[in-house]
Amino acid sequence: MEEAREALAKWQADIKRNLYENDADFKHSVALYLSEKVGEELSAFGERVPKELDPLVMENNLARNLPYLEGYDGLGMRYDKVVHHPSYAAAGDIIYGSRLMEKMAKPGGLLEALCFMFLSSQAGEAGHNCPIACSAGIIRVLQKVPDFPKKKYFLEKLTAPSYRENFTGAQFLTEIQGGSDVGLNKTLAYRDDKKSWRIRGEKWFCSNANAELILMTARFDPSIAGTKGLGLFLVPATLESGEKNHYTMRRLKDKIGTRSMASAEMDFHGAYAIAMGEPAEGFKMVMENVLHISRLFNTFCVLAMARRAFHLALSYAHHRVAFGHPIFHYPLVKENLARIKAENSALLASIFATVRLQDDFDLGKVKGEEVKLLLRHLANLNKYISALWSVEHIHHALDTLAGNGAIESFSIIPRLLRDSIVCENWEGTHNVLRMQILRDMARYQVDEIFLRHLESLGIEKFRAPFERLKKDINRLKESSEELQSLLIKSVVDQMAQLYAGVQLSKEAEQGSPSKAGCLQLFTHLHLSDQAAQVDQRTLELINGSLQIS
Ligand SMILES: Cc1cc2nc3c(=O)[nH]c(=O)nc-3n(C[C@H](O)[C@H](O)[C@H](O)COP(=O)(O)OP(=O)(O)OC[C@H]3O[C@@H](n4cnc5c(N)ncnc54)[C@H](O)[C@@H]3O)c2cc1C
Repeated sequence: MEEAREALAKWQADIKRNLYENDADFKHSVALYLSEKVGEELSAFGERVPKELDPLVMENNLARNLPYLEGYDGLGMRYDKVVHHPSYAAAGDIIYGSRLMEKMAKPGGLLEALCFMFLSSQAGEAGHNCPIACSAGIIRVLQKVPDFPKKKYFLEKLTAPSYRENFTGAQFLTEIQGGSDVGLNKTLAYRDDKKSWRIRGEKWFCSNANAELILMTARFDPSIAGTKGLGLFLVPATLESGEKNHYTMRRLKDKIGTRSMASAEMDFHGAYAIAMGEPAEGFKMVMENVLHISRLFNTFCVLAMARRAFHLALSYAHHRVAFGHPIFHYPLVKENLARIKAENSALLASIFATVRLQDDFDLGKVKGEEVKLLLRHLANLNKYISALWSVEHIHHALDTLAGNGAIESFSIIPRLLRDSIVCENWEGTHNVLRMQILRDMARYQVDEIFLRHLESLGIEKFRAPFERLKKDINRLKESSEELQSLLIKSVVDQMAQLYAGVQLSKEAEQGSPSKAGCLQLFTHLHLSDQAAQVDQRTLELINGSLQIS
């Protein structure tokens, strides 16, 4: 009995090791894409996440410490205050203290910022990831709209490196009649007698309800239906006079995951708002700056959560003994872990390359409408497949811990699983992303742009899956509209897997035997000519993928 407890204690000590220094593959990617100095900063931050951030997030997520809504102040005046446990601000100070907002606000700084988020997200959504992604979208919008009073002040507050000092953002699109079909939005934007914009109506999902700045869609002209009639507005929580802006919260939602972040249902009663650009351009602004960037953020976050679950499970497999051996000895345990590692590594290579392209685009190193469309397509592919697979990866990492895996006080894996399920639905459900890609194929020929891009990267090793994808795209195009919306599923899967395989192969070529092992298994599972067969070679592939380089 004591032996088993001792083994588990060793496992607990092992998982507190520096998350950066103990992830040779991530370090390798950082060395390929970023500077040595960034690596040093990531190393310092990677030390803090398991030792300082994890315990705070764990404490903050205890049922008794979750945020709650206090409707009225001591004088009985309505003030709708979201009350967070002190561990929320303490966790926020560590995360924002990495200066990730400042990094991402600089053109070309997104990949560096997201590497810090990759480490902090290994503690889970932590109640802060959603606000960070929302703030990032607001920063990009503010950088694009013409000057207005306090714009500079808002930007300074959004990039401040401390939760206690900064402003955080929220983004409200969804209404009760639908999230995917945003064109059904009814919430109204109108001008008051002083020509200021005002918002009236309700929003159904309002995450980071305590945000200082809200970016929201509202219908600026009721006679224009669909997304064309939606403008984009910034709603500060506090008015110039110091009074609270005119919105109230009905309640906080009781959620499966991301529980330490407050999501409310809200009513707007003529709230003061600032139009972000021309109202008629509002939805375009949302798509290009807000949803697009959030999809890149979401990808890094879910991959980080799955990465952590994998490392927790891998270490557990080395410490847990069953039938006389550490369970890592058993091929079935190894196969499960190897698959998670190979797929997670491929998707990480995919998003690294995508965000680098985004940084190059933001810096003007690459230009043009075609790159913009390619980026939109890659963001959709990455968000889709990373969210879909990460839930599975975390679920199956949990299997390695079996009974202990199901216990919230034993490890953070149950919370990672719950958080990742919520991240699946944010920023476009799987079907919405599939359907957007189908529409983009018809409207902008993104499939042709994507295939040309793949060829420019070099697809000699992947000729067979490349040709198969081309054939399936042609078949889809010749099909009825109804059938197309079914066939798109496999086409999108193939696109995402092929791009991930190509990018992993490029990284593996730069001297990483571990990534080369992952690539072989990934190719066997997703990019081979025939359906994957289990034989002696499968064992070799599993061992190759799990090697440490
Ligand atoms: C915890 C949490 C916090 C959130 N916070 C926010 C927030 O802060 N701000 C915000 O704006 N939103 C927020 N959301 C809402 C989220 O963005 C929406 O849930 C999401 O956009 C999906 O919308 P819906 O839930 O209305 O689903 P629906 O649009 O009703 O979709 C239902 C199902 O139908 C499918 N579907 C829809 N259209 C099609 C189609 N054309 N073809 C095939 N399938 C289709 C969808 O994929 C889905 O499976 C939050 C959600 C959660 C869970």
